[in-house]
Amino acid sequence: MPELPEVEIARRNLVRWFDGHRLVRAEADDTRIFRGAERAEFTRIRGRLTSLVRRGKYLLFAFEDGHGVLGHLGMTGKFVRRKEGDEVRFSRARFHLDDGHVLHFADARMFGRMEPAPAASLRSLDVVKALGRDPLADGLTAGQLAEAVGTSKQDLKVALMDQGRIAGLGNIHAAEALFRAHLHPARKPSTLTPDDWKRLVQAIRESIDFGLEEQEGEEPVYLEEGGSENPFLVYGRGDGPCSRCGSTVESFPQAGRTTYACPKCQPRGRVGK
Ligand SMILES: [Zn+2]
Repeated sequence: MPELPEVEIARRNLVRWFDGHRLVRAEADDTRIFRGAERAEFTRIRGRLTSLVRRGKYLLFAFEDGHGVLGHLGMTGKFVRRKEGDEVRFSRARFHLDDGHVLHFADARMFGRMEPAPAASLRSLDVVKALGRDPLADGLTAGQLAEAVGTSKQDLKVALMDQGRIAGLGNIHAAEALFRAHLHPARKPSTLTPDDWKRLVQAIRESIDFGLEEQEGEEPVYLEEGGSENPFLVYGRGDGPCSRCGSTVESFPQAGRTTYACPKCQPRGRVGK
């Protein structure tokens, strides 16, 4: 499922693909990715992409004609570039460019969203204003992380995935960051020491950097789609050996999602390693 790194790679690809080119036709199929009058509005967009900003897992498209789109990749959404006339599986919406390429928004499960809105209003949309600090776009210090997450009464991993506290982390990168920081996902944020927050902020950076390197390239591949090796340190490794110490990785449900942790590297009670 796309999280901050995957959405950032989508942003970089789109900026590169649009560079120097104009959108000559926008198409939208009749799916739940668009609601109400959104399809008709989407098809009116024309011209150059003047900016594409990522906030957490959202993409804010601004076009020179004043149109904008708030995009979310959902669970399986991705942008791919093809020559005009080429078929793309699960293509739901398309930007036709003046260079003979088509940028498809492909989304098998259709939890993604494309919400047209005036470009000037994107940053003031409620869902965007509600986002917490973005570790990549805004930078994040240990103190800012402690302030944003430390007051949560929820388990640490659930609090890290709360987009209103920190924007962009999901089930994969929250689990990976906690493993890197030697912190158990079920720790309560209020029990963390300044050293824990320092390790965690560093671990979040490393996990995002790793995700960016992993997804670099033209064709995004998500782990859930199969066909690729699991590149992660702990995520998806339940009942297998810990990549660091060899202990058996545990998996357990947490707020409705499966969480992975090494019982030795990420002790429940103790502080740190
Ligand atoms: Zn371990």
